[in-house]
Amino acid sequence: MRDGDPSATVTSLSAELERARDLETDTLADAIERIGFECTRCGACCTHEETEAGPEPHTATVFPDEVRALQGAVDEETGEEPAWRDVARPMPYGLSDGPDGPEGETFEWALKTDACGDCVFYEEEDGVGACGVHTDRPLICETYPFSVALDGTSQPMGEAVDEEGIVRAHECEGLGRDISRDEAEELAAALKERAVRELEEAIAVRDTYEPASPEQGEVVVHDSEGAKAGDGTPLK
Ligand code: SF4
Ligand code: SF4
Repeated sequence: MRDGDPSATVTSLSAELERARDLETDTLADAIERIGFECTRCGACCTHEETEAGPEPHTATVFPDEVRALQGAVDEETGEEPAWRDVARPMPYGLSDGPDGPEGETFEWALKTDACGDCVFYEEEDGVGACGVHTDRPLICETYPFSVALDGTSQPMGEAVDEEGIVRAHECEGLGRDISRDEAEELAAALKERAVRELEEAIAVRDTYEPASPEQGEVVVHDSEGAKAGDGTPLK
């Protein structure tokens, strides 16, 4: 999308989308069952990571319609719809540090983080984590710790630590635990939906992309709906 031969990118994203659409959920469920998983609610996939270079904020991709779903979910819960910028932040990759904060062009959105670098929807009580928007959480959260090995799909923050066919499992203390067939099938269906959505999104971003020239201190975010300012306002 940003460099390389555009026609090759067109071919490979479209081919990967076809592969995603052809994924057999039974096969994905078999792989998930073999790997095993039960969430312990440790919160590691919702919070910042401590690295040698310092705390690394939580970063998970969220698509425009998922941002609106989260705004709607909070509105329903509290009677007050949050602003776009209270739910999502520009994906930090590709942005540079300007005198007034991040600036430049980037692609897609990440879930908003708090001052500690944790997802703003993360709640914790007595060491047990919970998602404040559980039923409306983005697909990348619903399917953690799994991903599929297709080019153009998002990979979660945690390193891949296991693989079974096309299914990858990322760092998570709940791996290796028994999972019921029903739960494995539910996860498999969401995993397939996510792979298709991510590739459709990547293709739409590529098709709507027009280079922007942000002013100093400005951020432009390219998503599947076109270019937006850093607060989510469409630029056209
Ligand atoms: S890292 Fe794994 S066990 Fe911990 S909250 Fe996330 S999915 Fe659950
Ligand atoms: S939306 Fe929910 S599941 Fe996703 S990172 Fe935030 S707290 Fe965790």
